[in-house]
Amino acid sequence: ENFDIIKLLKTIFDLYEMKAARKNITLTFDIDYEEKVMVNGDKEKIEQVLSNLIINSIKYGKQNGTVEVSIENLIRNKVIIRVTDNGEGIAREHIPRVFERFYRVDKSGSRKEGGSGLGLAIVKHIVEAHNEKIYIESQLGVGSEFSFTLEKAK
Ligand code: ATP
Ligand code: MG
Repeated sequence: ENFDIIKLLKTIFDLYEMKAARKNITLTFDIDYEEKVMVNGDKEKIEQVLSNLIINSIKYGKQNGTVEVSIENLIRNKVIIRVTDNGEGIAREHIPRVFERFYRVDKSGSRKEGGSGLGLAIVKHIVEAHNEKIYIESQLGVGSEFSFTLEKAK
């Protein structure tokens, strides 16, 4: 299945703009492209991946913060999509575990925000089912960046 990832991102942005606005978080979009970027994948599943990452960034983001989504060419036939926030971040010892089912960082905003701890486990499962990779970089008190790859459609 082929779909335009730029168009999908615009739809998702429209969905979560209000949610972000309630915390005065600015959702921004940084792309090299103006036109469309066709990728291979299951559109509904990739929508689930992006929604989960963006919702997390808003949920664990700080008041007046920013959430940025960017798309870049990685190698010839791959793009990498990044979701970056300047929120509470994740301590080093928790980073390897956040993709586990039901794992939630103790003492993080997750306590008061609520949730099941399943979002990232699903995200990882979907990305790997596409034979793609997911990465995390995070620093406590500074912010987090989740990124994943997708294959461009020919
Ligand atoms: P669910 O997504 O099922 O509603 P959840 O958000 O707690 O619940 P995950 O999305 O799997 O579950 O995330 C696991 C934990 O990782 C969160 O509880 C939170 O502690 C931490 N986390 C995830 N994303 C971020 C982020 N962008 N910034 C800081 N911490 C995060
Ligand atoms: Mg979540």
